[in-house]
Amino acid sequence: MQTKLVIFDRDGTINQDRDDYVKSADEWIPMPGVLDAIARLNHAGWHVVVATNQSGLGRGLYDMAALNAMHAKMHKLLAAAGGRIDAVFYCPHSPDDHCNCRKPAPGLFEQIAERYGMDLSHVPTVGDTLRDLQAGVAMGCTPHLVLTGKSEKLRGLPLPPEFPAGTVVHTDVSAFADWLLQQPPSSSKSMGKNSPKTGASA
Ligand SMILES: [Mg+2]
Ligand SMILES: [Zn+2]
Repeated sequence: MQTKLVIFDRDGTINQDRDDYVKSADEWIPMPGVLDAIARLNHAGWHVVVATNQSGLGRGLYDMAALNAMHAKMHKLLAAAGGRIDAVFYCPHSPDDHCNCRKPAPGLFEQIAERYGMDLSHVPTVGDTLRDLQAGVAMGCTPHLVLTGKSEKLRGLPLPPEFPAGTVVHTDVSAFADWLLQQPPSSSKSMGKNSPKTGASA
């Protein structure tokens, strides 16, 4: 049986985003309900990983020690909520580096596919920006937009046309978890019934 995996963006999805970047553990503040939602997914057998652009590293706004401290805080708070994030895949580059891992490029998702030894077709990916979803869709993931962080301004509005076909919209991660946990157990192949035909990307 295929691993039940969900791939989350970090800033604006799990924790509050900031216009001046999340630069320290103190500035890493989970949004309400998210830790509990991840724990609920875990309890239903879902593995959760994070794929996050951290260009603040490449821009020199914070260092690896600060990033590690943010993630130590995240793991600790999540453990206290009864949940777990298996791993954090991050892009440390600035846009000027033209790397293959800064979303919307698919490199982080390629790393996840390699780590788990699985095709990411139909794996749900959750984020608050278009580029999060584009990176996942390039690897066959099903796109889920949360209306938090940079997309909070889309609440009450129609989804802009540039979003991938089959994008499923949720108020926040808690609503996404409710949705995922309501799907029939064997429906992974039909999850997101309008999912884009990205086909075999492995
Ligand atoms: Mg984000
Ligand atoms: Zn990168």
